[in-house]
Amino acid sequence: MSLDEVYSLVSSDPGRCALFTDFDGTLSDIIDDPALVEPIAGAGEVLADLANLLGTVAVVSGRPVGFLERFFATPIQLSGLYGLENRTADRLLIDSAALEWLPVLSKTADEAREQFGTESVEDKRYSLTVHYRRSAQDADRIQAWATEVAARTGLDARGAKMSVELHPPVERSKGDAVSDMLVGMHAAIYIGDDVGDLPAFARLRDAVDSGELERAATVLVANHETVPEMHELATDVVDTPEAALEILKKLSELATP
Ligand SMILES: [Mg+2]
Repeated sequence: MSLDEVYSLVSSDPGRCALFTDFDGTLSDIIDDPALVEPIAGAGEVLADLANLLGTVAVVSGRPVGFLERFFATPIQLSGLYGLENRTADRLLIDSAALEWLPVLSKTADEAREQFGTESVEDKRYSLTVHYRRSAQDADRIQAWATEVAARTGLDARGAKMSVELHPPVERSKGDAVSDMLVGMHAAIYIGDDVGDLPAFARLRDAVDSGELERAATVLVANHETVPEMHELATDVVDTPEAALEILKKLSELATP
């Protein structure tokens, strides 16, 4: 399977093709302050075009929907916090199991701000990220803290890019987020750069193996932090968000009647 094989179905039957894309490092450059990250020029516009041409277009991210919706309007679908939040049309759906963990998350966010400073803590309400991008020597301290918090509270600690994330112990991944959007599709493309995208890569591969999808492509936006497993599951590889944007433009051309 590869992008080229999906392209032919995009031209012949765009309404049954799905496009899923990660945000950070895929549609945006990675910069030191995560709060200031924006899509690269043109990405929002092309995705909006595609959302009117393809069966499904969704941004699937570890970010909260509240952050993503600053850049991506409906009918682009948004799946935030690895599938815990989903915005379809004008509705925001929250995973009910995650809601019960709000008080614990809020208390843990206070504790993190106290220990590591407000600027290191990204409070996503339904999850929490503590960044050590600014001071690499803090990595050990923050990781040890997250391990201790996980043992004490029952929250799940997950390593991420130059950060540690604390999540409710609710099994949701980008693979689950994508699953919910495959119904009625015969082809799908997923574009991503990070370990968090691996479950989605695997989900599309499995969907082709089981016959749920006719064709799928998993596009890796490789950077210096890319782990080898991503290359194993990627059908196509590009090197920059700009190259990923070229793929979106090509899809838009192909899908335009
Ligand atoms: Mg990413």
